[in-house]
Order: sequence, then structure tokens, then C-alpha cells
Amino acid sequence: MINDTIAQISSALGQGAISIVRMSGEDSIKIANNIFRGCDLEKVSSHTVHYGHIFYKNKKIDEVLVSIFLAPRTFTTENIVEINCHGGVFVANKILEILLLKGARSANPGEFTERAFINGRIDLTQAEAVMDIIEAKSDLSLSLANKGLDGEIYRLIVDLRTNLLSIIAHIEVNIDYPEYDDVIELSNNIIKPKILDLLSKIHNLLEKASYGKIIKDGLKTAIIGKPNVGKSSLLNALLREDKAIVTEIKGTTRDTVEGTINIGGIILNLIDTAGIRESEDIIERIGIDKAINVINEAELILFVLDNNQTLTKDDEKLLDLTKNKKRIIIINKTDLNKELYHTFKNSISVSALHKTGIRELEEMIKNMFLSGEVNLTDQTYISNARHIAKLNETLQSLNDSLTAIKNKLPIDMVEIDLKAAWNLLGEIIGDTSTTNLLDELFSKFCLGK
Ligand code: GDP
Repeated sequence: MINDTIAQISSALGQGAISIVRMSGEDSIKIANNIFRGCDLEKVSSHTVHYGHIFYKNKKIDEVLVSIFLAPRTFTTENIVEINCHGGVFVANKILEILLLKGARSANPGEFTERAFINGRIDLTQAEAVMDIIEAKSDLSLSLANKGLDGEIYRLIVDLRTNLLSIIAHIEVNIDYPEYDDVIELSNNIIKPKILDLLSKIHNLLEKASYGKIIKDGLKTAIIGKPNVGKSSLLNALLREDKAIVTEIKGTTRDTVEGTINIGGIILNLIDTAGIRESEDIIERIGIDKAINVINEAELILFVLDNNQTLTKDDEKLLDLTKNKKRIIIINKTDLNKELYHTFKNSISVSALHKTGIRELEEMIKNMFLSGEVNLTDQTYISNARHIAKLNETLQSLNDSLTAIKNKLPIDMVEIDLKAAWNLLGEIIGDTSTTNLLDELFSKFCLGK
């Protein structure tokens, strides 16, 4: 049981209208009451807000609103106090400092959410969904994250585990009462079909997971082509609904991502576009290795050609370098005379300047990766890389169990693989997780979350 009280600034650090300093733990109300003047916080009801001032050593620190949430109906299931103070870095830090002097402990990143998990209010997939909501960059990814927070991934995994448990139970009965069933018959007629069914369910989830991952993380995209073909103009045309490139805060995503744009619900993470856009000659200036790196790293290449020019050696070089990638050839400047007579697979004609063909291009990208509409209302998409990895490991264990059956190994050998699968699924929801995993996972959260 956790019995210390943690405190942290939960809002972003920086100047703003309001900052929120949050505490969770048994003593949080007592600690807040100690420095608050306005009313007796130890006598108020749960889920109420109180106006007053924070005082320290008889000196007024700030005018605040204090929200009180009494255990157990709270985010962490513990007593929670949230102090809304003025949004200055100094004042928020000052209040945090006073709370620490009065007995709270500074919370580690993600520790509030970790407590919600440890105290059983949410499972691991829901805790991860909290982070996904914070990081969501599109309507689709936000909906996906909300489904996770509602416990849909949790229920999917629990369902798989229930199926698995019924198989394990069959085997247990057989081990306890060997005379009850013929082992070969049990393995082939009962256990095997059930394992196959489970395998197909997991395959199905993993197939759709690639959609989920794209919705959540977006696509690493490189817009390439030789100078003046219209790459910047194309970018601007694509940006029309989103208006701005959202530059990533350093460290929150892979370093090579320069910015993100939302096109028709899919996030394109533009990689090294500056390097490529500004180069006089991409191959010479950034070097062939770098060009190859950018191309290798990209999950989507938007390759721009000029309709008004014949194909040059540079174009051919780049076309060759990208021939094995998911690539869309964008024939730009279709408002000008046609000089380019090549035909390409996956190509589309646009005029970036006049913004024609842009919607069709967006559709093409969507179809290329999501093959039609993604139906978030009917389906749940696994999108978290950790979940996907664990599901793949589960598949492996289930396949091992089938091999054991095929090789007529004793039924308890089959059971070992099935139990491994059970544990792997448990790791997804945090039922069978190690301290290391939890530490690593929650350390990725922001402070105060
Ligand atoms: P980049 O060097 O590949 O990024 O090319 P830019 O986007 O800077 O465009 C180079 C020039 O081509 C600019 O003068 C643009 O206005 C022009 N341009 C871009 N797209 C079109 C188009 O669709 N039609 C016409 N006529 N000109 C265009």
C-alpha cells in the first residue's frame, strides 16, 4: 500500500493564465489545509472547489481555487487536491515547494497515473491511453486514444485471455483426471481448434494494428524531387486545412521529424524536408548516403516531378532510389504545357499553385495505407508498439503449442506454451508485469501526470 503523499505541477511549465499544482495521497487535504486560508478544507465535501489564498509563514503567496476530491472516487483512488494558482512559473514552483516543506514528496513523471494503475482503477492499457490522449495530433488518433482509455483494448485482451483460460482448463482437467479424456483426441479435436481460433483472432488484430499504428503515430513522409519542381508549394497546398506545421518539441519524437501535417485525418511526419527542399541538388548537396538514409527512413515518399520539364538524370536517379518504397509520383504544374510524357504507377497530376488535385492526392494516401475508410465506431485498433510486440510474442507461443501437439508431446508440454501466452497477454494489461516495465513505461509520462 502506498502511504506517502505526492505533489507536482501538472500544467505545462511556462507562463499562462493558470497553473495547476496537484497532490495525491492520504495527507493531501491536511497539507493543503495547513497553507490555505478561506475555509477548513478538512470539513468540505468531495468534488468541491474553494476560493482562498495560500499563505506561508504569514505571507500571502497567491490567490487560488482549491479543488478537493476525496478517496476513493478520484483519479488515483486517493485523496486529491488540485490548486489552481496564477500561471507563473515562479508562483507555481513556490506553491509546490511549500507543499514539499509541509510533508508531500515530489512526484516522478507519470506517478499519478502509476498510482491509478497500482491502486487498480485503470489497467496498463488505459494508463498508456492517457499518454496517447496527451500526444494525439488528429481527430482519429484522439478517438483511438479515448477508446483505449474507455478500456476497449483491455476488454479485447481479457477476452483473448478468457478463451485461452478455457483451453488451459481443459488440459488441467485432463492432467488431474487422465482417464477422463483420450489425450490425442483431446489435443486434436478440442485443444487444437481452439488454439487455431485464438490464433486467427490475434492475426486479425495484428492486421488491423498497422492501421492503428498509422492513426496513432502517423507516417514518416519525405517530399522529394529536384529543385523548383514545387515541393514547398505542394507542402503549402497540403497545409491549407491545418494552416501550420506543428513543430515537435525536441525529444518527444524521433529527432529527424521536422514537423507534422494532418491530411484528411492522417498525420504525415515530415522527415528532413528542409534538407531536401533547400538543396540545390539533393544528391550532391546532402550526399547520396544521406539521401538514401532519408529515403530508407520514410514510410511514404511524395515524389514531385514537373509536368513542364522532361525527365532529367537527377529525376531518374531519385526515381531509382525510391523504387521499392511506398511512393506517390506527383506530377506538378499541370497548368503548364505538358513536356513530361512518362507514365508512372501510383501517380497523380496536381497543380500546387492552383491547388488542384490536392484532395485526390489525400484520398490516394489514405487508400494506400488504410485501404478505404477506417471504422472507429465498429472496431478497435491496437496501435501501441508495446501491445503489438506482445501480441506477436503471444502468436509465437501459440504456434509453439501447436508444434508440441503436432509432435505428440505430452499435454503438459503444450500447456507450458499456452501459459506463456497467457502471461504475455497479461503483460499487455499489466496483470503480469515487472517493476522494470512499469518504471520504464511511467518514466515516459510528463511530470504531474
Ligand atoms: P521547390 O524548390 O521544389 O520547393 O519548388 P517551389 O515550391 O519553391 O516552386 C518553384 C517554383 O514553381 C515557384 O515559382 C512556384 O510558384 C512554382 N510552382 C509551383 N507549383 C506550381 C504549379 O502547380 N504551377 C505553376 N505554374 N507553377 C508552380
